[in-house]
Amino acid sequence: EQWAAAVAAVRSAGAGDEVLLICHVNPDGDALGSMLGFALGLRRLGFTRIQATFPGQFSIPDPYAGLPGLDLLVPETDAYGDPGMVMVFDVASESRLGGLAGRLAAAPRSVVLDHHASNTGFGQVRLVDPLAAATSVVAEQLLSRLDVPLDAEIAECFYVALATDTGSFKFDMTTVAVHELAARLIATGIRPGEISRRIFDSKPFGAMKLTGEVLGRAVLDPAAAGGLGMVWTYATLSDLERYSQPPYVLDTLIDPVRSVAEADVSVLVKQVGTREWSVSLRSKGAVDVSGVAISQGGGGHRLAAGFTGFGEPDDVVATVRRLLDDFLN
Ligand code: 5GP
Ligand code: MN
Ligand code: MN
Repeated sequence: EQWAAAVAAVRSAGAGDEVLLICHVNPDGDALGSMLGFALGLRRLGFTRIQATFPGQFSIPDPYAGLPGLDLLVPETDAYGDPGMVMVFDVASESRLGGLAGRLAAAPRSVVLDHHASNTGFGQVRLVDPLAAATSVVAEQLLSRLDVPLDAEIAECFYVALATDTGSFKFDMTTVAVHELAARLIATGIRPGEISRRIFDSKPFGAMKLTGEVLGRAVLDPAAAGGLGMVWTYATLSDLERYSQPPYVLDTLIDPVRSVAEADVSVLVKQVGTREWSVSLRSKGAVDVSGVAISQGGGGHRLAAGFTGFGEPDDVVATVRRLLDDFLN
């Protein structure tokens, strides 16, 4: 039983052992929230040597810059080289661990907490629940099995994770269990209004102008996805530069795009380098976009997935359009 194995792994590590927690590259609210909330739980258990990290560019998106537990976060280059235990959060495949994958492979104990249906199955103990709305749901269950009670700091981290991955409790996986967990988190005294304002409604003026420009160039393709419709747009590094905005702003742009009524599928092509793009795919239900993402070396969920594409935005979108047709036939 994986739950018992996970509890045993944590309990068998000594309080003085080095524990390294890792979440995915370009972390979102669930990656950071589930990881930092669990890290704070380990601190309550008496662990004294805890680090949290993620691969790649060490920048924390502004919406998450106030999360409790941030003092435990270190850049990849400063992370324990040979930790006694590695725990991984919200990571669907080892490729999303970048240069930290070796740390996981070498660790005497490793536990993976995730909720991606596309999870490739790595690490010694695997707590992967595709029905969980966020990785923080899994993290909270493990803390509970370790008899760590929720406090306001842990709850704030888990709430941010839950609110982000459910689109503010809007998406299909917003179940009774999700609201019950949210209720228990709020019962610790955290302020949902304040937290939501901070993570969703506190963008700089320049981000709004940038959003206007990116949405202004969106294209509606009603014939795509077997007539279910697709809407797409792209955002470049020079867009960011022109409005002096940090990269995380691009990750917020898919939400207005996916609200278009005439399209079941929405696509946002975000530049990450020369002819290199991070592609966000969203579906309203009829189309499984994770198939498209996986076939391009990415991953995700049925209704929200992503991959790395190359060339010009037009080329990337043409590939998505063709793959959608292939998958629908
Ligand atoms: P987003 O579009 O918000 O970046 O990602 C949506 C979902 O797809 C998330 O669950 C994320 O983990 C997954 N995803 C996005 N990009 C990639 C990728 O390049 N590789 C994998 N494996 N998953 C991705
Ligand atoms: Mn994530
Ligand atoms: Mn997640």
